[in-house]
Amino acid sequence: MHFNMIKAIRGTRDILPLEVREWQQVEDAAREIFELYAYQEIRTPLFEETELFARSIGQETDIVAKEMYSFRDRGDVSLSLRPEGTASVVRAYIEHHLDRQVGPVAKLYYMGPMFRYERPQKGRYRQFHQIGAEVLGSEQPTVEAEVIEMLFLLLDRLKVPSAQLLINSLGDAVCRPGYLASLKESVGGQLDKFCPDCQRRAQTNPLRVLDCKNESCQPLIARLPSVLDALCSPCRDHFDRFRASLEDRGLPYALQPRLVRGLDYYVRTTFEIVSGELGAQNALVGGGRYDGLSELLGGPPVQGFGFALGLERFVLVLPESVTESLKEGPDVFLAPLGDEAHRYCTGLATRLRRRGIACDLDYEPGRTLRSQMKHADRVRARYVLIIGERELGSGQFTLRRMSDGWQEPISEEGLFAHFGPVAGATAPTNFSPTA
Ligand SMILES: [Zn+2]
Ligand SMILES: [Zn+2]
Repeated sequence: MHFNMIKAIRGTRDILPLEVREWQQVEDAAREIFELYAYQEIRTPLFEETELFARSIGQETDIVAKEMYSFRDRGDVSLSLRPEGTASVVRAYIEHHLDRQVGPVAKLYYMGPMFRYERPQKGRYRQFHQIGAEVLGSEQPTVEAEVIEMLFLLLDRLKVPSAQLLINSLGDAVCRPGYLASLKESVGGQLDKFCPDCQRRAQTNPLRVLDCKNESCQPLIARLPSVLDALCSPCRDHFDRFRASLEDRGLPYALQPRLVRGLDYYVRTTFEIVSGELGAQNALVGGGRYDGLSELLGGPPVQGFGFALGLERFVLVLPESVTESLKEGPDVFLAPLGDEAHRYCTGLATRLRRRGIACDLDYEPGRTLRSQMKHADRVRARYVLIIGERELGSGQFTLRRMSDGWQEPISEEGLFAHFGPVAGATAPTNFSPTA
């Protein structure tokens, strides 16, 4: 009997241990920075009623029209794997009256997988991962600028080079209809020059035309009317105050009037942070304001502003100075020589770990020093502790640094001092290991 080997599904991938460390580096930095700005984490289900996304993201978007993983469950309800995070967070906010729980301005963040049935290409996956944050309950432009400041602090923390902020305003229910009409007219006048997708979008959702990635549409799009020229005076004022707040914070930006983002629910401020390191698909972070979204979902009027960043792309721009240190393994690898030393190491490993010192060892007894050194090298241990019979008798072991071969005799207490004290580590309380 011979079985075919089962592999991961096309468009998905395994994040392997060394890479997971890079992801954790980003996730840890994000949690730390977000919490400085008083954000709290929220975790919503991976699947929701299809209706949630159809109503919020928009029937005519590529996401809902072509890319969702939708299915009927055994109760014949149409469900979809979440293609993005905002709709679920807003749904949860309404459902649990989070304004009462977390204060008048709810600042929430999330991280996790999202799902879209996209054509697999380099750096694009059908299960991809986002970190995002949402501020619910404020219409102030200074909130928007603060979110962007927070993102730049995160980029600084991770030493991400050459990030650039692009901003735009999409207007609101007052001024956007007029802009859409002029856009429709302008596209309609030369409809046959646009790609088939744009021809369709010109009828159903003309804003999407600005978003077209098709090469041949780009020069046409560049000559279409700018939304920034069509803003009503409250939208103009909002955008001016947003820009002033960015300037007050010393955050440089560029106006990008074609920036519409892929989702229907955005109003007024939208933004992207792009990186020259990423080539054509260069957006690291994207976000914007979505004041009408709560009502679309059957909730009360709630102003909202948020962003999402793609982890897959984000780790690509981490500089080597950040990722290099992540390759280190445990603090120390224990290399016993002989049965008695091997038994001693079992207890020593426990005592080290209970003090917060990471260690590893070879579980096979009787290995030579040479093969244990090789093992230590494979797990990228920083030090090796050599324990032979003579060392056992004297209580003085040999500590060797892997990077340069430096070594010194050391006692068990000396070892604890060398690697500790580690914050949070405590003396044994629940059980007493032997020896
Ligand atoms: Zn097009
Ligand atoms: Zn307006």
